[in-house]
Amino acid sequence: MSKDYYQMLGVPRGASAEEIKKAFHKLAHQHHPDKAGGNEEKFKEINEAYQVLSDPQKRAQYDQFGSAAFEQGGFQGGGQGFDFSGFNGFEDLGDVFGDMFGFGGTRSRRSHRARGADIQVDIDMTFKEAVFGGEREITLTKFSSCHRCGGNGGEPGASVKTCETCDGSGVVITAQRTILGMVQSKRACPSCQGQGQTPSKNCMTCQGEGIEKQRKTLVVTIPPGVEEGNVLRLRAEGEAVKGGNPGDLFIRIHVRSDKRFHKEGSTLYTKKIIGFTQAALGDKVDVETVDGVVELMIPAGTQTGAQFRLRGKGVPIRSGRGDQIVEIEVVTPKKLSKEQKQLLEKLDLRG
Ligand code: ZN
Repeated sequence: MSKDYYQMLGVPRGASAEEIKKAFHKLAHQHHPDKAGGNEEKFKEINEAYQVLSDPQKRAQYDQFGSAAFEQGGFQGGGQGFDFSGFNGFEDLGDVFGDMFGFGGTRSRRSHRARGADIQVDIDMTFKEAVFGGEREITLTKFSSCHRCGGNGGEPGASVKTCETCDGSGVVITAQRTILGMVQSKRACPSCQGQGQTPSKNCMTCQGEGIEKQRKTLVVTIPPGVEEGNVLRLRAEGEAVKGGNPGDLFIRIHVRSDKRFHKEGSTLYTKKIIGFTQAALGDKVDVETVDGVVELMIPAGTQTGAQFRLRGKGVPIRSGRGDQIVEIEVVTPKKLSKEQKQLLEKLDLRG
């Protein structure tokens, strides 16, 4: 039995995309199963009709072959004839699909609230600052909740009226294209943000937008041991949005490298160049650490490549600090005075 999708939506065969959309919205609103007097069967039908007629390609196929093309087992394959009845109600379809197929999966299934944009900022740190972490001030000019109306967009003290867009239901139906075809989902009404009511007078500061640009300074705690490219996420510190949750703030860390230090986890590595005589006889040498210069005892007979551990001079960790490893490089003199040459010859050091 072939279904007449045009008749189901109450539009003529030559209806424009806009007319089809309008007719669908009106009917979807009227028959929505969550509404008093709603009709789930009818709702599914108009939904199916709209899925086909809102897609120019499918509409053309339908015009040629009829609805059989879109029912289970039709030539388009199983996907087009997908049956919504397997889901418990209509409410969360958009999100179920999101979760299953990765479409916009970050949105909570419970909330259809809007979400503000994320903000990304970059901060530069010296090597030493990155080792120790610490507090940084970040000043941002971003949308925040309007200070006058507290974000609801209404002039303080003004009365409220039923939202005209959603008739007070707080929801509108939107269509989302998925691999299973068009899927209808319920969204919070954009006019009233799902409240079902709008203020009778807009806030004078934000003109009803509920948000205003504000300059804000945040103090961000950067953990010790951050590395180039690390990103810190501060939830809800992004742009505010009316009737929804703010986005997040992402802080991308850039660490200026320091030739003297190399970092691996909580361990810092440095090199220390010593002379021939120091290596042979041992010596007390100055070594650079992130805390400043410290003395290191080089024992007699130290070889090139020898490593010495400075405990607690590395990166702060939960239980104290990591270590610093000092690698020794013994340099062989390139230029010798006549006297030095004679002395060395006398020594006749051979491997
Ligand atoms: Zn306001």
